[in-house]
Amino acid sequence: MGGHTLHIDIAIIGGGVAGLWALNQLRNRGYSAALFEQRALGSYQTIGSQGMIHGGVKYALAGAWRGDAQTISAMPAAWRRCLAGTGAVDLRGCRVLSEEFFLWSSGDLQSRLGAFFASQLLRGHVRKVASKDYPAPLRSGQFRGQVYRLADLVLDVHSLVNTLASRQRDAIFAIDWARAGLRREGRQAVLALPDCTVVPQQLLLTAGAGNEHLVAGLASTRPQMQRRPLQQVLVRHHYQEPFYGHCMGTNPSPRLTISSHRDHTGQPVWYLGGDLSTGAADASPQQLILRAQEELAGLMPWLDLGASEWATLKLDRAEPRQSTLLRPERAYVGKLDGVENARAAWPTKLTLCPDLGDEILQQLASEQILPRHPQELAALDHLGRPGVATPYWDTLFPCAG
Ligand SMILES: Cc1cc2nc3c(=O)[nH]c(=O)nc-3n(C[C@H](O)[C@H](O)[C@H](O)COP(=O)(O)OP(=O)(O)OC[C@H]3O[C@@H](n4cnc5c(N)ncnc54)[C@H](O)[C@@H]3O)c2cc1C
Repeated sequence: MGGHTLHIDIAIIGGGVAGLWALNQLRNRGYSAALFEQRALGSYQTIGSQGMIHGGVKYALAGAWRGDAQTISAMPAAWRRCLAGTGAVDLRGCRVLSEEFFLWSSGDLQSRLGAFFASQLLRGHVRKVASKDYPAPLRSGQFRGQVYRLADLVLDVHSLVNTLASRQRDAIFAIDWARAGLRREGRQAVLALPDCTVVPQQLLLTAGAGNEHLVAGLASTRPQMQRRPLQQVLVRHHYQEPFYGHCMGTNPSPRLTISSHRDHTGQPVWYLGGDLSTGAADASPQQLILRAQEELAGLMPWLDLGASEWATLKLDRAEPRQSTLLRPERAYVGKLDGVENARAAWPTKLTLCPDLGDEILQQLASEQILPRHPQELAALDHLGRPGVATPYWDTLFPCAG
């Protein structure tokens, strides 16, 4: 390690959606920024997410939502601007899976949901759906619940990662920590690489669950992180109609969340989350698959998925440590306490990336950390470029589709 010194404005560690978003927004503002990824871009949470960009309505039933006053309700519009090429980052070319998301009650709850959604607070955010317009999986004479439409978006996350990465190829590098290290020089963090030391004005840690280790490695105890484990269920089947929806049960949080994807051969996969997965982090895959099968059979007994294969996925959601388990409505960006030039960030939701990007810019500007160095990063090219993570529906089923 050693060689020459490269001064840049921002060094970003971790290329999930948070790091990639920050890289795009910072470079659009003229900062010289470089991103370092140890595995594949979008690994872990980002590629494991359901891709829903939501305005927070699903939190409303928990009483943790106050309508337009909250940042999260502004997020779908912020993403739509990006998708149209007029927002903080350019997402033109990113695949949108759905422009709407359904919320349905399974029967007995309908009056409570109905009264709630008719409230002044939610008017404009939620629309009742007439039975002739029900999404295909709920179109059955046996269905007794009610259906509402949310103006939420669902993105193809693999395409999102590709889009964010393709705009900044020259600033994204692979990092092998066996040959690199974060070091303290006085109160400054620097990145020591095989032939070069990168001295950033600011180091930004966006490594998801990896932030915990990186923060500790810089002699810092803050910001602290928490993990919330869950276990998702995947079912690959032959039912061709896509479905994006939350089923509300007796809890304020969704009982079951379904998003629809296709594996690399085009075969449909439903990705199941919600209470089914948050309450089952420790269940055995066999137990959880059985529960998921019972849940689908109980909620939509008329539905025939055809021959199906099942798998589960255990993941940790990484977030700043909070004293309560309140739903996040803001992204988090905070300074490390062991060095003067580093911050750690967790979006806490894919949805909150626009808030994350704005918060980073605001915090940098408030400390006069402004674009100073040229965007010349060719000296790092020898590190090589990381690939993009493969969707879990292409790796988890025992046999290829
Ligand atoms: C199952 C599941 C479903 C979800 N669904 C949704 C949803 O529908 N809508 C929504 O808004 N949110 C959702 N979320 C939350 C959302 O996915 C996360 O908030 C978001 O993806 C976090 O992104 P990130 O970039 O901070 O972390 P990650 O996506 O975990 O990325 C971290 C990156 O850093 C890299 N890394 C780690 N350590 C190091 C290191 N030492 N050096 C270099 N690189 C490193 C990793 O390889 C990875 O590429 C979901 C989360 C889960 C787990």
